[in-house]
Amino acid sequence: MSSTQFLADVDAMFDDAVACLQLEEGLATKIRVCNATYVTRFGVRLDGRMHTFTGWRSVHSTHNSPAKGGIRFSPGANQEEVEALAALMTYKCALMRLPFGGSKGALAIDPSDWSEAALEKITRRFAQELVTHNFLGSAMNVPAPDMGTNERHMMWIADEYRRHRPQDINAMGCVTGKPVGGNGIEGRTEATGRGVQYALHQFFQTETDWRRAGFASGEMGALRIVVQGLGNVGYHAARFLSEEDGCRIVRVIERTGTVTCPEGIDIVALRAHLDRARTVIGFEGGEVAPPDASDLEYPCDVLIPAAIEGVIHEGNAARLQARLVVEAANGPTTYAADRILRDRGITVIPDLFANAGGVVVSYFEWVKNLTHIPFGLMERRRTEVGNHRLARTLELMTGNSFPEEHESTFLRAGAEIDLVRSGLEEMMRSAYAAMSRLVNDRGTSVQDLRTAAYVLAVGEIAAAYRAIGL
Ligand code: GLU
Repeated sequence: MSSTQFLADVDAMFDDAVACLQLEEGLATKIRVCNATYVTRFGVRLDGRMHTFTGWRSVHSTHNSPAKGGIRFSPGANQEEVEALAALMTYKCALMRLPFGGSKGALAIDPSDWSEAALEKITRRFAQELVTHNFLGSAMNVPAPDMGTNERHMMWIADEYRRHRPQDINAMGCVTGKPVGGNGIEGRTEATGRGVQYALHQFFQTETDWRRAGFASGEMGALRIVVQGLGNVGYHAARFLSEEDGCRIVRVIERTGTVTCPEGIDIVALRAHLDRARTVIGFEGGEVAPPDASDLEYPCDVLIPAAIEGVIHEGNAARLQARLVVEAANGPTTYAADRILRDRGITVIPDLFANAGGVVVSYFEWVKNLTHIPFGLMERRRTEVGNHRLARTLELMTGNSFPEEHESTFLRAGAEIDLVRSGLEEMMRSAYAAMSRLVNDRGTSVQDLRTAAYVLAVGEIAAAYRAIGL
């Protein structure tokens, strides 16, 4: 799929929500368009030679500040792709009721072409560009990991920022997804995969929804799952679903080939093999085949695209053999394919919700950096000042009010990881409940979870604009 098409598809999904909301066109246009995109071409001297790199940071919306979203390192990155991804961040944060605008960045680079030392230089140089042009800072713009980047890149960005803005007391909140030892937060690395697992839990706890999708029960133990992409998101989702929910990962689709095993693939072993061999070839825990255009069409209950955009398109949507698609990647289904899946009665749990775990835990990290209070310390304070205070603090931090049974989870929790997990679970629960309610409410014209996600998101943003009198 071309990036122009990707952007047009995100806009078309947005327009469907606008039609349901009967939003005035002037406001809809303001929300739909991207505010600004900064393009930088900078030079870095490596091995005695000057290399020029191109990077982007796109700010889709600042109805809330800071604008939030990852930075990807990918050779095919371009401005339209970054703008489409920034728009998805705006809607994702609004759906999850995080007080952020939407942003995204990219560097056109293949990280596997460069040594660690070279990557550090390049990342720091990109961070300098972002700081000096006001596209980085805890109050303005806060990146996070995405495809091709991880906690090391985030730490280099944070460190570079701190050197440029030594007076900024909130310097470490300029980026999330940092290592735990570097002002990060427990559970951020696996957060997106964890969120995918929680998304499935919510779906299978909602009887009207799994029945409509044609499942015979809400039991997850017998599910056969196909995962595309065993990167950070796909790996953690597949691992949690197989180890903790008893699902069978029957196929993993990777760039270098496909592994199939109807009895279930050992995900940890496959990841270890990939880290060692850099290819699926030679893996002995399943049948290995070279990549094929029909890889996604394998019979399964749940298909989890966890790689790149546009992989479910008009050319394969009619042939998918899954009942449920869970969008762990951003934008994996084209607008046209989405229509085909809907007509075929295949349910889609949309990206705005399914992969929101990453940014939700980023939000916890940012709050932790800004308060300068580690979550564990806050827990100790509870015993001093009483349970009510902790519950109230968490309500304020997450924007949710916790029902009694959830409050008790917090009160038992001692470690940061427990707080992060229950906070994430609660936010996934309330967002799913809101989407499902819209789909099941006969009084609305919303018939699918994607439109519901967009309707809720656009409604939030429109309310923010109205509140400031626009
Ligand atoms: N890159 C992730 C996403 O696409 C996380 C963004 C963030 O944490 O800001 O949602």
